[in-house]
Amino acid sequence: MALIQTKPSLEAKNKTVKILDKKFLSDTVLLLTIENPGITFASGQHIIISFKDQIYDREYSIFSGEDEDTIQLLIKIVKDGYFTSVLNKCNIGDLLNFRGPHGNFCLDIINNEKKKHYLIATGTGIAPFVSFKKTYKNLIDFEVLHGVRKNDGATFQNLFENYKVCVSQNDGQKENVNIFYGRVTNYLKSIKVDKNGVFYLCGNFDMIYEVENYLVNVGVNPNSIFKEVYF
Ligand SMILES: Cc1cc2nc3c(=O)[nH]c(=O)nc-3n(C[C@H](O)[C@H](O)[C@H](O)COP(=O)(O)OP(=O)(O)OC[C@H]3O[C@@H](n4cnc5c(N)ncnc54)[C@H](O)[C@@H]3O)c2cc1C
Repeated sequence: MALIQTKPSLEAKNKTVKILDKKFLSDTVLLLTIENPGITFASGQHIIISFKDQIYDREYSIFSGEDEDTIQLLIKIVKDGYFTSVLNKCNIGDLLNFRGPHGNFCLDIINNEKKKHYLIATGTGIAPFVSFKKTYKNLIDFEVLHGVRKNDGATFQNLFENYKVCVSQNDGQKENVNIFYGRVTNYLKSIKVDKNGVFYLCGNFDMIYEVENYLVNVGVNPNSIFKEVYF
């Protein structure tokens, strides 16, 4: 576990890896397990994968903890998406080109260990936060807000102690301690936010833009807001 680390300075590698497992957590969310080609990474980083002989590649956050032997990715299969349509049909044993790790959407343990961490995601934007939790276990005070369209199984109530899933399509279930019906930003507006906390925002641009604006308006220091935009 990389405890003494503010910024990853890890060497990016370009390798070929095998798909070891492929499991759907919901109709459209795939958990893909691939070989680790011998890299070390910092939780929050992403890799770039492509299929042999294809020109397109895509970035994916690492879902695994730093100490795990394999690399897992949490991937939304996008309707008519070029790359995810191919991934949807791939098989265990297929080969992928692998580049990385890249990025610095990582925790700053040295400066922020004692601060409250708000981890705010839409959809598969939860992936780097699962990696944080697996790596830092009980070290950090996390509060997780996870925006999803449907509460369909690709949520992670069992992993985080403080986890609220914000469901935008009301499926008739009652709200409870884990479920809020509405957008992440609406939930955020309904709670008292610790302005001295640190905020990690990951997923779609609209949510990130809306949440960042709200946080800055209520007095959060923009330097305490970290962002990873997927699309
Ligand atoms: C740093 C980084 C990390 C990323 N990590 C992840 C990750 O861990 N998991 C993951 O699922 N994606 C992640 N992405 C997005 C991913 O790289 C691809 O863009 C995504 O898989 C769509 O690729 P595609 O070729 O199938 O779709 P494309 O053919 O490129 O796009 C089709 C359409 O789908 C939209 N779209 C893209 N992603 C989504 C989505 N998740 N939900 C709904 N619509 C979408 C695009 O805006 C576009 O309009 C990440 C992106 C970045 C930049």
